[in-house]
Amino acid sequence: MTDAGPFGTEFAELVTANRILAARGVVDGWGHVSVRAPGRPDRFLLARPLAPALVTRGDVLELDVATGESITGENTYLERHIHSGIYRARPDVAAVVHSHAPDLIPFTVTDTQLLPLLHASAFLGEGAPGFEVGGVPTGKLIDTPEAGDELATSLGTAPLVLMRWHGVSVVGESLRQAVYRAVYATENARIQLQSLALGPVTYQPPDEARTVAATVDGVIDRVWDLWLHELSDTSV
Ligand code: MN
Repeated sequence: MTDAGPFGTEFAELVTANRILAARGVVDGWGHVSVRAPGRPDRFLLARPLAPALVTRGDVLELDVATGESITGENTYLERHIHSGIYRARPDVAAVVHSHAPDLIPFTVTDTQLLPLLHASAFLGEGAPGFEVGGVPTGKLIDTPEAGDELATSLGTAPLVLMRWHGVSVVGESLRQAVYRAVYATENARIQLQSLALGPVTYQPPDEARTVAATVDGVIDRVWDLWLHELSDTSV
C-alpha cells in the first residue's frame, strides 16, 4: 500500500498506535492518540472522533497546534485541546496519548502516588503530577484552548499527568514512546494496586529509576514490534 500525502508514514503509524492502544486495553470507546507533524511543529495529526480500534488512515486529520482545530474544519474529538495545549507548552513532545484506563483511576482520587514498580515503567520516576486549577484538583473536560493550557501547566516537564475522576494524558518524544508509556503506566498501576493489597510496598528509588528508564528507552522498538505482530487486524 502506498503512503499517500506529505505525512503518509505518520498516518500509517498513527493508525497502528490507535490499534495497539485498543488491543492493550489502554483505550476503549474513549481515548485518543496524536502525533506532531514531522517538519511542521505547528501541526499535529489526530483522528475523527472514533473509538481508536475503528480508526483507519482515511480518518486521520491535520490540526493546528495554535487553535486545536482541524485544518479542513472537519470534526474531531471534544478533548482535542489536551493535545494542542501540550504541544504548545512542550516543544520536546512529539506525541500524546489520552486514556481513561480504569486501573489508573484510583491514583487520581486518592493521595497514593503512582510510583515505579517495574523496570519497564521506570519512567514514572518520582511520580506523576495531578491536573489542578488554582491548586485544586479538578475533573473538568479539556474542551477549550484555555483548559488545554491549564492541563499542560499541571503536566509541567513530566511524562504524564493524572486527571481526577477521568484518566491520564501521557507524552513522548516519539509516538512509540508515548504509546509505550501509556501501556506501561497502566500496567504499573495494576501491579501497584495488587502490591498495596498485600502490604507496604517498596518502590524503585528515583535515581535507579532514572538510569533504568534511559536504558529501556533504547529498546522500545522491540516491544512495539511485538505489539504490532499481535494485532489481529493486519489491514493497518
Ligand atoms: Mn477524556
